[in-house]
Amino acid sequence: MTLVDSVSNPKQTLDRSVLMPITRRPEPVMVRGEGSYLWDDRGRCFLDFVQGWATNALGHCAPEVRAALNAQAGQLMMASPAYDNQRELTLARRLVDRSKLAHVHFSSSGAEANEVALKVARKWGRIHKGGAFEILTTHDAFHGRTLAAMAASGKAGWDALFPPNLPGFRKLPHGDLEAMRSAIDARTVAILVEPIQGEAGVVVPPPGYLRGLRELADEHDLLLMFDEIQTGIGRTGTLFAFESEQALPDVLTLGKGLGSGVPLSAALVNARAACLGLGDQGGTYHGNPLMTAVGLAVLDTVDRPEFLGAVRARGAELGAGLDELVRVHGGSARGRGLLWAYQLTSPIAESIRDRCFERGLLVNAARPTVLRFMPSLRVTSSEIASMLATLRSVLEAAA
Ligand SMILES: *Cc1c(COP(=O)(O)O)cnc(C)c1O
Repeated sequence: MTLVDSVSNPKQTLDRSVLMPITRRPEPVMVRGEGSYLWDDRGRCFLDFVQGWATNALGHCAPEVRAALNAQAGQLMMASPAYDNQRELTLARRLVDRSKLAHVHFSSSGAEANEVALKVARKWGRIHKGGAFEILTTHDAFHGRTLAAMAASGKAGWDALFPPNLPGFRKLPHGDLEAMRSAIDARTVAILVEPIQGEAGVVVPPPGYLRGLRELADEHDLLLMFDEIQTGIGRTGTLFAFESEQALPDVLTLGKGLGSGVPLSAALVNARAACLGLGDQGGTYHGNPLMTAVGLAVLDTVDRPEFLGAVRARGAELGAGLDELVRVHGGSARGRGLLWAYQLTSPIAESIRDRCFERGLLVNAARPTVLRFMPSLRVTSSEIASMLATLRSVLEAAA
C-alpha cells in the first residue's frame, strides 16, 4: 500500500520508517474525523469507540472545539509563560470553583500534570512532614510516561526499562484499603490513585474505597491525590469521578477530556496542599490561551446536568448491552458512565480488536483478556447498538 499526503504533498509517498518504532499500528492512515466516526486515507469509515484514547470527550472535531480554536486563533495563541492571559485565568477560576480546590497549574499532557502532583508531594513532605517523601501508589496504575510518572505507575515490566528508577514510590493492590493502611509509615507523604484504573482495564474499586482513602489520609496527615486524567471531565457520568463518593482529594490531575482532542492538562491543589512557589514549575506551553480556550468550551458543554445525565443514560445502555454479550460468551462487564471494559474468558482481546477493525469498528484491547470502550460522551443509542451488533458478530465468529 502506497501512502500519500494528498493535501500537502501528493507526489511524495509516505514512509513509516521515519518514525521511531514505539508502537504497532494498522496499515490505514487516518485523515478525517466527525463525531463518533473516523475516516482513513482509503475512504473507509470507522465507528470510533477509542476516541483519541478517551480524549475526544465531545467527539471528533466537535463544533464547540473548532469554534473556540478559530476564535482564539484570530486573537491570541501564545502570550508567553511570562504573562497572564484571560483564557487561562478564566478556566482556572472555573475549575477551582467546580472542584472546591484552590489553585491550578495547566500543562500540555497528563504526565506533566502528574509531575506537578509529585513535586507537590515531595515539597509538602519536606516542609510539613520532616522530609517524608514516599508516595503510595497501586499495582497496574498508569500515570504517564515521563520517568517520574513511570516510577509512580505500576505497569508490569516497566521497572526494567530505564533503570535506575526514581525512588520514593511503594505499590499496593488497587481497591485494598487495608493494604494501603498497613503500608503507611513515617516516610509516607501521599497516596496517589486513579479513582477507576483506566489503562489497567477499567478496574473499579469496591464502594467506599475513595472515602476510605480520604479517612486514611486525614488520620495520618497525608495528601490524597487523585489522577483523574482518564476518569475526569464527565467520563464516568459526573464531572469528576470522586463525586461518586464525595471524597475530596487534596491534589487532582486532569487531562485527556479536558482538551477534548487538544493538548491540555491541569494539576489542582487545595489550600492545605498548596506549596509550589516561584521557580518550582513551568513550561513553554503551560496555560497557553489557544488550549485553555478549548478547555473552557469543553467545560461549558460537559458541565451541565442534561449532558452528564445523558452520559449516565448512554453508559447504562452500553453496560446492559455488554451484559447481554456476557450471558452468551461468558466473562464479565464493568465500568461507569462511558468508560467500560469487557473481561473475556481467554486472551483473545487483540484478535477481537483486529476483527472489529476489519469491520469498521474501533475498540481498544487494554489487556490480552480485556476490551475497553471509551466513546465520545455524545455517543448516541444507535451508535451503541451498532457497536454491540458488530462486536456480537465478531464474538460469534470467534467462538
Ligand atoms: C492517559 C493517562 C495519563 C497520561 O496522560 P498523557 O497525556 O498521555 O501524558 C496519566 N494518567 C492516566 C490515568 C491516564 O489515563
